[in-house]
Amino acid sequence: SPPITIIGGGLAGCEAAWQAAGAGAEVTLFEMKPQRFSPAHHSPNLGELVCSNSLRGAGMNNAVGCLKEELRRCGSLIMAAADATEVPAGGALAVDRDAFAAYLTEKVEAHPRIRVRREEITTLPAEGTVIVASGPLTSEPLSQEIARLTGSEHLYFYDAIAPIVEADSINFDRAWRASRYGKGGDDYINCPLSKEEYFAFVEALKAAEKVPARDFEKMIHFEGCMPIEEMAVRGDLTLAFGPMKPVGLPDPRTGREPFAVIQLRQDNRHATLYNLVGFQTKLTYPEQRRIFRTIPGLENAVFARLGNVHRNTFVNAPACLNRSLQLKSEPRILFAGQITGVEGYVESAACGFLAGLFAPRLAEGKSVSFPPPTTALGALLAHLADSSPEGFQPMNVNYGLFPPLEGRKMKRADRRLAMAERALADLGEWWRSPDSKQFAH
Ligand code: FAD
Repeated sequence: SPPITIIGGGLAGCEAAWQAAGAGAEVTLFEMKPQRFSPAHHSPNLGELVCSNSLRGAGMNNAVGCLKEELRRCGSLIMAAADATEVPAGGALAVDRDAFAAYLTEKVEAHPRIRVRREEITTLPAEGTVIVASGPLTSEPLSQEIARLTGSEHLYFYDAIAPIVEADSINFDRAWRASRYGKGGDDYINCPLSKEEYFAFVEALKAAEKVPARDFEKMIHFEGCMPIEEMAVRGDLTLAFGPMKPVGLPDPRTGREPFAVIQLRQDNRHATLYNLVGFQTKLTYPEQRRIFRTIPGLENAVFARLGNVHRNTFVNAPACLNRSLQLKSEPRILFAGQITGVEGYVESAACGFLAGLFAPRLAEGKSVSFPPPTTALGALLAHLADSSPEGFQPMNVNYGLFPPLEGRKMKRADRRLAMAERALADLGEWWRSPDSKQFAH
């Protein structure tokens, strides 16, 4: 099998190296640490968890639990490391971060077909199959190289995310569907606020607990992606004239425009997810849940993702990559991990798993077999390949990305479990088929 070069020894890079080497490829893995550290990395080890030590929910009620189980069943190195270094964390899978990174480093360095080179890559190799897994804090020279390859308009350096709500948790006794001035049909969901509700909301935003911006993130709060709580601080009416302006949105129950309106825009093709337009925020997650559930119509909102504003280097995957994670303009180059526009430790590892699975086959000129869209792995790929390139945003895995279940209505919890069951059954079928892999381990 032709050799494969991987850039970045993080979660995606380690998993990709393990899978590609397992399939018989000779892998060279470049990692710039300890020669150079990003502003968030500190350990010389591979597979460093830069922040929390949690790989999030363990149960199937959360799609990340399903993704973890899929990875386990497919022989993921990251999951083996996590299971071997687990620490008690209630319903979540948390790990001893040092033991986790040490486990990964040892396994990767000891693999007979993986050579780890501690060097920063500043220009991509001119030939051969390459997987770029350099993460959300890709070093500057490599970022420039990627911008040159993708076109600078397709490479982003920060992420301003508004919270995303599961559509069936919205209360339509208060909210209604309409576009501003009736233009464009019923594309938006609107939540009305009276004057009292609006000012109480603004006060809550101002008083809420915020996540402090890291030094290297401070410069990203320019006008285009200013967090809503900062807009609230600028003036009590700033939001009412900005993202919460009610003009052209009469409430069908009164026939009049409310004092303020929060709009939600469809976020996925199944119309199961809606984002709060203009609501990027650095409030802490508990504060977001508490305050956004005071919005009329969102009393029982289930958040598929909460808001954030942070440094994040990622490509516009639906515009630049094909479903096999290859650069459309130069298919010998694949991308993996957070830099593709998935979000989170497990999602980054999953993306590395897929790139490591695909790359050796593609290098040999063979076709690849994609995990079914009903699996968490397939749902992640669909997010990267099938999202609209306009306004593409990184995303954690969540059940809103899965195709809806056919047939009878179920309670939310039962529906999630049924989706997980369908995912694992379909994954098993795919993984057993000879097309899915050519593994030697
Ligand atoms: P990384 O794990 O960052 O790995 C990339 C590797 O590439 C690094 O080791 C880096 O040193 C190396 N590298 C970069 N440039 C070069 C180069 N030119 N040459 C050679 N090597 C290079 N997700 C969560 O689920 N939970 C969290 O708590 C969390 N916190 C985060 C906090 C911060 C500050 C950031 C930036 C992200 C966070 N994420 C979190 C998001 C994401 O899940 C992690 O960043 C995750 O580590 C991404 O995995 P990755 O393999 O894509 O990149």
